[in-house]
Amino acid sequence: MPALRAARSYARLEAELRARIDRLTARVCPGCRSPCCRPVYCRKTFDNPWYRWVNRVCRPFVPPPEWRVTRQPFGLGPRDCEIRAGRYVFCYSFNCRRLLAALPEPGARRAFQALSDLLLHPDRLPGGRRLHELGPGERLSRREVGAIDRALAEARQALVVLDASGMLPPAGTRLKPEAP
Ligand code: SF4
Repeated sequence: MPALRAARSYARLEAELRARIDRLTARVCPGCRSPCCRPVYCRKTFDNPWYRWVNRVCRPFVPPPEWRVTRQPFGLGPRDCEIRAGRYVFCYSFNCRRLLAALPEPGARRAFQALSDLLLHPDRLPGGRRLHELGPGERLSRREVGAIDRALAEARQALVVLDASGMLPPAGTRLKPEAP
């Protein structure tokens, strides 16, 4: 089933990005006094039919009963976002100045931004629709699902190049938490 395969492939890439992004956010975000998480972003996973599908078939997160109206970013757990699949794309691609400033030099900042933008590849659909703009009840055509698959393959290639660049925060390094 192409839509199931595409959703699983999307969630796999999401997990790979997140593993790399978390090497930096785990160090910087816990000390932040104005975290960028907002309930409107968490709601996207359940309002947007693509994200909801990815979440449901890959790593289901059960939102609280009041998720449509709560003023809390309900995905945010004690340490991290607990929505592991189908998270709103801008939760990955937005990088605040403090986060980027924690990287040692411009090449590392560019690589990190490119990393966090990788899920924007499958976001752009043929014909001009954007995945993140889908609303409740909207459906994807077979052509659009095929385009998502191809864009995911390109994004995966780009990830290989970024890994090889040596510019991403290194794996397995325990970064020291920043002072608040
Ligand atoms: S990162 Fe997670 S908790 Fe934060 S806004 Fe996005 S979905 Fe919500």
